[in-house]
Amino acid sequence: METLLQHAVFPPWVGGFYAKAGINGKKILVLGESHYCDDCEDCGSPNNKCNITQKIIEDYLAYKNGEKEFASWMNTFTRFTNVFFGKQCDDATIKHFWNSVVFYSYVQKSLHGPREAPSKEMFRDSETAFFEALNTFKPDIVFAWGGRLWNMLPDNGYWGKNYIIDEQGGKLYFYKIKTKDIPVYRVYHPSTSYFNYDCSKYLQRVMIEITQ
Ligand SMILES: [Zn+2]
Repeated sequence: METLLQHAVFPPWVGGFYAKAGINGKKILVLGESHYCDDCEDCGSPNNKCNITQKIIEDYLAYKNGEKEFASWMNTFTRFTNVFFGKQCDDATIKHFWNSVVFYSYVQKSLHGPREAPSKEMFRDSETAFFEALNTFKPDIVFAWGGRLWNMLPDNGYWGKNYIIDEQGGKLYFYKIKTKDIPVYRVYHPSTSYFNYDCSKYLQRVMIEITQ
């Protein structure tokens, strides 16, 4: 599957099993918020695509294969997988999961520092690329990481009818693209302790909801 989006500076990670199998037959797009890239010069300038989004998952999978050193940021990806499945997953399950999803970072410009928050303009300037990604990958569900991202997502969609829950997001929010309506669900950022096994039932409820 083509991963290079015209408007995206950071081409997403697209797992090899995404298009045909997904997870339980469902295509999942995992939506991160932003990157701080200190790897390339003038990151994100026009005509300078940066592969940091892909490299994150490649490095994570390489670690799972015993080919890379562990780094603490990798816990975020393990935690998301564990909570998604509601159990501590073995390496094979984790590798299969990340080889079956798309990972896309919303803000299409590198932050200036590791703990900086993206500006409103950076979110706004990333909308075109986001909708290009939705139209290209046509996911069945988007899991958006963190409240800051959730609050800055484009507001041109609509709320679904059914409450999934809850104290953390409530309903699915849908974006219309040419061929379908794509639901987005907010999860706590998996680097925080708020994202724990208490959240598993909500994610599983979402997976059931999109199957009906
Ligand atoms: Zn870069």
